[in-house]
Amino acid sequence: MEFSIPSDVAELQKKVRAFVEEVAIPAEKEYDYNDGRMPEATNQRMRAEAKKRGLWTPHLPRKSGGLGLNLVGTGLVFSELGRSPIAPYACNCDAPDEGNMHLLLEAANAEQAKLFLEPLIAGDIRSAFAMTEPPPGAGSDPAALSTNAVKEGEEFVLNGHKWFCTGANGARFLIVMARVNGSFRKTTLFLVPTDSPGYTMVREVGVMGSHGPGGHCELTFENVRVPANMVLGRVGEGFRLSQVRLGPARLTHCMRWLGMSRRAMEIAREYARTRQLFGSKLGDHQGIQWMLADCATRIESGYLLTLKAGWTLDQGQDARHIISMAKLHVSEILCDAIDLAIQICGSSGYSRDLPLELMYRDARAARLADGPSEVHRMVLGRGLMSGKEEF
Ligand SMILES: Cc1cc2nc3c(=O)[nH]c(=O)nc-3n(C[C@H](O)[C@H](O)[C@H](O)COP(=O)(O)OP(=O)(O)OC[C@H]3O[C@@H](n4cnc5c(N)ncnc54)[C@H](O)[C@@H]3O)c2cc1C
Repeated sequence: MEFSIPSDVAELQKKVRAFVEEVAIPAEKEYDYNDGRMPEATNQRMRAEAKKRGLWTPHLPRKSGGLGLNLVGTGLVFSELGRSPIAPYACNCDAPDEGNMHLLLEAANAEQAKLFLEPLIAGDIRSAFAMTEPPPGAGSDPAALSTNAVKEGEEFVLNGHKWFCTGANGARFLIVMARVNGSFRKTTLFLVPTDSPGYTMVREVGVMGSHGPGGHCELTFENVRVPANMVLGRVGEGFRLSQVRLGPARLTHCMRWLGMSRRAMEIAREYARTRQLFGSKLGDHQGIQWMLADCATRIESGYLLTLKAGWTLDQGQDARHIISMAKLHVSEILCDAIDLAIQICGSSGYSRDLPLELMYRDARAARLADGPSEVHRMVLGRGLMSGKEEF
């Protein structure tokens, strides 16, 4: 195993750390608690600065305007960026656009790339990925998918109901997962512009954490006509392509979450270094040191797991098992690390004077979105029981 970091990636990590310290963390104070997101003017200011510093879309290949990192390099860079929850969007590498760019790079034809991928990379538009449906439709169990497209001549007529589509409010287009002619086997991804007649953004669902630039939205599709050339890939490739998107997207989530977990620990350590009680610094108490030690050990194990999963994908190998492990493990570390940091910081941790309160609420979604922990445990357990995967 090779653990050294290439010198160009190490340099990039330093640049990213400087961006997070000098630009993103100071801007966090501008978060609008009433609106549940950053003001757009702040986002645009940070985006301009990220471009100026050469940190725009770092995850993309060089020919697409990125920095040509493999997934291990992306992990090293994203875990620095993730220290601030607003830094990934500033560099145009946050969910869902980051995963959607990756999917379009893999599957879009020339016309689709020109219409959707190029402006997405430029940061001129936003996108959303619409798979989840309100009960009884698809959620943890994709077999319940009810959105359906019927072929009529050179068009598909799409009907369905989706929700929790992150970023859909104000998005230029959606990637919508639907059956074709009622067939689950023919599940397909469709590119749907948001000005299509019959499409409605019903509402941004109220959530406990941030709404982000375009909320987590409920959508309806009533006889939306999608030209046949707006099928992404081929009819029936919906699940294969969604795995092309979801595998790396789960890992890039882990990478950002590791940065967030480290930031929580840094805040807690700073408090423990300065807070005086019972005749010594809080951090002199062994109970606190052990809390930090256990948490740092878990973060490091999640980091190695995530990088190994990235390395496995970089080798072109099947990484589903190890990605599930990383997603399960790191989402739980994230919640635990922030919870611990709040405990160490006492009432300050619970207050809005520190960012932990917001981080805590945002982090809760990590154990649900992109597959709840139980689904990843199920997938891992089935692989182990069948003997397809080993311990
Ligand atoms: C903040 C946020 C953003 C999201 N963004 C998107 C997005 O952009 N696009 C999109 O398509 N979806 C998105 N989702 C939806 C997310 O992927 C789903 O919430 C997830 O797939 C679970 O589906 P569900 O909510 O319908 O829960 P359900 O399927 O109803 O499951 C409920 C609970 O059942 C438990 N469970 C499930 N399976 C098992 C099992 N086998 N054994 C035991 N227990 C089990 C789990 O605890 C689960 O949380 C987002 C969700 C959140 C919270």
